[in-house]
Amino acid sequence: MSRPAAVLFDCDGVLADTEMLVNTLVSEQLTALGWPMSAAESRETFLGMALPDMVPRIEARVGQLPPDWVEEISTLIAHEMNRRTPPIPGAANALRAVVAAGVPVAVASNSGRAELMAKMRSLGLAAVFADRVFSFEDVDRPKPWPDIYLAAAAACHVAPQDCVVIEDSVPGVRAGRAAGCRVLGFAHETPAGVLSAHGAEPFASMAELPALLGL
Ligand SMILES: [Mg+2]
Repeated sequence: MSRPAAVLFDCDGVLADTEMLVNTLVSEQLTALGWPMSAAESRETFLGMALPDMVPRIEARVGQLPPDWVEEISTLIAHEMNRRTPPIPGAANALRAVVAAGVPVAVASNSGRAELMAKMRSLGLAAVFADRVFSFEDVDRPKPWPDIYLAAAAACHVAPQDCVVIEDSVPGVRAGRAAGCRVLGFAHETPAGVLSAHGAEPFASMAELPALLGL
């Protein structure tokens, strides 16, 4: 496999092991609003979705949400992430191997910007990505639309077809494929077969990543 012109990383479930923490917060909120739900059920229902995309589904169950609900829960999540963002084992080493090989990197996430920056700082990766950090708030449409990966590729000054995307969710894999990128699917939260059905090449451990990238 020839080495990519840039590697574009998803954040949650790829760099940060945040899904359970976020889903615990979401499930507590929804249970209080009258939609009783466990963290595991929240994960199944909303994996890979940006908060604004969750609103219609939630409102169909509990009625209209307070107008500042997205902002409030986003602030709550950012606060937790500032305290401690659990890393995905091996992800920072894989990322550093890519950087050491001279390949540009970016991060592209369906998180809000404040929440995403909190995760990058907490993981010690803010300087690695510098200004190549993209939240759904930076583009017109979140994943599964391709916008965020197109923006990330442009920030690396390379064509999307020459980029590799690292994803772990179905909406994320779809976004990367829609942007025209090769997608490696980290089978952590979502089974390998599901990721490959959406066009990703699945892998099981971050230690495999440099070799899969031809580095
Ligand atoms: Mg993810």
